Amino acid sequence: MRKIGDWLFSKFAKQEPSKLTPLSQTAFETPPVVRMIGKTDAEYDAQGGVYFPLRYLTDMMRFISQNSDCLQVLTYQDLDVRDGHEHANNYHAEYLAWNARVAADPVANCKAHVLLQYDIDRSTDLMHALLASPEHDKVPANIMLFNERVDRWRLRSSGELCTTEYPLDEALLRRRQSEGFVIGYHTNAYELGGHDTDRALEIFDRDMTAMSEKYGTRFFSAHGGVPDAKGKNNNALPYHPDWIDRSIWVHNGVNLRFDGVFSDGGHNSPKRDPKNRDLRQFFETLQPGKRYRMLLHPQYYGDDYGVSRRFLGTPWYDDMIRTAQQQPERSLWENVKLNIK
Ligand SMILES: [Zn+2]
Repeated sequence: MRKIGDWLFSKFAKQEPSKLTPLSQTAFETPPVVRMIGKTDAEYDAQGGVYFPLRYLTDMMRFISQNSDCLQVLTYQDLDVRDGHEHANNYHAEYLAWNARVAADPVANCKAHVLLQYDIDRSTDLMHALLASPEHDKVPANIMLFNERVDRWRLRSSGELCTTEYPLDEALLRRRQSEGFVIGYHTNAYELGGHDTDRALEIFDRDMTAMSEKYGTRFFSAHGGVPDAKGKNNNALPYHPDWIDRSIWVHNGVNLRFDGVFSDGGHNSPKRDPKNRDLRQFFETLQPGKRYRMLLHPQYYGDDYGVSRRFLGTPWYDDMIRTAQQQPERSLWENVKLNIK
């Protein structure tokens, strides 16, 4: 088999894809996946991890819709990136062209442009509840899905590679897609490939083929999965040469450019101060004529929520939880002041 994993990314840009051995003609070995198992990740860490009321997000959707005169929702589909070749230049050129376009358009230039990316690492039921909420109408998001989900807990604790259930409401996804939502691929190919680069590239090809046939997927992001012994993770996989012309790597490893980003990931990381992790505060920093990405994990948001021990004692969080519990009719976003108007 051709050892494509040994090639550096920089070489990919110079290769003619047609000169490469198509991976479909190589012997595809069965991945070393052990078995399908039930809920997993130690039963989703004994059902913890839902730290925010769903309303924290659905009230945000309503807030965005009510402020459409100064907030514009973007999807990756709206960004004019040609392909993954020479991404540093290409992405920079895209950013400059976007800025020039917005600056020349008085309406667009008065708005802040926000892009929502959902990484669906687990708990697809919570994604479904969020996507089904009527507040999400007219607020399209970019939904990053696995083709096959890995049990992170088992892989990390015992090195055992297991895939798990990952049920998807296809009718709901397709309805939202027809309304402008974008379905991308959340690549975990390096984990699924047993931390072998060649196998991982085969799995990337298999998964991207499946996702593009199913959803017309072009955009992908790397999942922050379980790294190998040297710390290499899904985001360090070389860009697959057969996909460099046909896909856009948007996040983690290769990134499109934004003027500001918010992420709700790594909740329990001591490196992240809960004080600065309120989405509403982030909205108050938005500036007209600029674009922003919010990376959210719907697994943290639900009607049946607990409280985050790490966030407890942080004034905005305590206040938000108290309001959600005591004043169900009041918007959690009512006091947010945009600095755009
Ligand atoms: Zn992820």
